Amino acid sequence: MPEDPEPHAQRENGTPHALIAGAGIGGLTAALTLAEAGWQVTLADREPRLQEVGAGLQLAPNATRLLGPLGILDALDNLAVEPAALCIRNGETGDRLSRTPLGASAAAQFGAPFLVAHRADLQRALLRRAAANPAITIRLGLALADLRESGEAVTGLFEDGAGAALPIAADLLVAADGLWSRGRRIAGLPGPSRYSGRTAWRTLVPRAQAPIFAREAEVHLWLGAGVHVVHYPVCGGEFVNLVAIIEDEWREEGWSAPGNPDVITSRMRGLAPRLRDLAAAAEHWNRWALLDRPPESRWSRGRMTLLGDAAHPMLPFLAQGASQAIEDAAALAALLPATRDGARIAAALRRYDALRIPRTARIQAEARRQGTIYHLSGLGGRARDAALRLLPGTLLLRRYAWIFAHDARVIGA
Ligand SMILES: Cc1cc2nc3c(=O)[nH]c(=O)nc-3n(C[C@H](O)[C@H](O)[C@H](O)COP(=O)(O)OP(=O)(O)OC[C@H]3O[C@@H](n4cnc5c(N)ncnc54)[C@H](O)[C@@H]3O)c2cc1C
Repeated sequence: MPEDPEPHAQRENGTPHALIAGAGIGGLTAALTLAEAGWQVTLADREPRLQEVGAGLQLAPNATRLLGPLGILDALDNLAVEPAALCIRNGETGDRLSRTPLGASAAAQFGAPFLVAHRADLQRALLRRAAANPAITIRLGLALADLRESGEAVTGLFEDGAGAALPIAADLLVAADGLWSRGRRIAGLPGPSRYSGRTAWRTLVPRAQAPIFAREAEVHLWLGAGVHVVHYPVCGGEFVNLVAIIEDEWREEGWSAPGNPDVITSRMRGLAPRLRDLAAAAEHWNRWALLDRPPESRWSRGRMTLLGDAAHPMLPFLAQGASQAIEDAAALAALLPATRDGARIAAALRRYDALRIPRTARIQAEARRQGTIYHLSGLGGRARDAALRLLPGTLLLRRYAWIFAHDARVIGA
């Protein structure tokens, strides 16, 4: 099996070499943070072209404070939207239950903005920064299949689209290969995530077709029995990102299986007419199964670790999936010394596990709890609505200050 010559040249000049499998949100961010910390980086993705699929992502202040110094917020300037508020409504009656100011007040409170963006816009901005960085080599069409580790190096064994094998040697291997991670299995961790019994249906409605209320720069959350709906503008306001989460048994792998519009509109039958008007303006729906898993006691082994969804898939009810992958990338670079020494790398990875696993496990648990509350019906639903009406909106933000005020680069003693 021929070794890849390029990373060899990098390794010979003494600069430590990180190999990242997966050029999604977490892998791209890690390429940038590790390059900044003095590493040569090879970033490989199994896709021959990074797909412009997906839809909206929320980027909370705990993520935007990390993206700013990487130049990504500037690149998203006209594309990301800063919502003025989070508005929660009862899905059936349409009554407003609470309004939490975001915009300037949240930015002042947490020192970084709340943003919403199309995943493709964020991925493109990260990819452009990575492609322009001479310390980063991007290799597309290479899927991580296995690894070999010696005292000297870790070798990622990749396969190209034709099934040909390509080993790439490095000092560190980061598997940032998402929900259906091959890296997890290589690290000896349990396989596929478990199905949560819910699916997300999403669509983009062009602004001109969207009812006026949905064009506002706000995050809208509608809570119904066994269903909830979130929408907000993306792509500089050109589209409304609309996501409906329903209880369901469908569970195929992938982010963009087509969904029959009749199914989702019938599941939204009991919801407020103006919300149904918004859904009716959508031409195509995609869906994905929501996966979850209990936290692990470790992510790392020797010179290898995991990052993002590969490490901690989380339900989307706190909208922290992308933000936590970005935090992982920042923490990893802050913890790793620029070294080729296997013992020092393994020690830094143990610290990474010790720092990141408790935080992401707490967010996973809180997201799970939130999902149960969102879908309550009957008495439980009425109690939830009453509590939301009574609580000042600002309290909701203060309740999650432990998430939003966090700076993942600060790693303590
Ligand atoms: C195509 C796509 C569309 C998405 N759309 C949305 C959305 O609309 N809304 C939302 O909330 N979340 C979406 N997500 C998920 C979201 O990006 C992640 O939950 C979050 O950003 C965490 O990022 P991550 O880097 O851990 O994983 P991801 O962003 O999922 O990236 C994982 C990357 O690993 C690559 N990969 C997988 N297996 C291998 C392998 N064996 N070797 C090498 N590379 C591999 C994938 O091609 C992908 O580029 C989407 C993910 C993908 C891949």
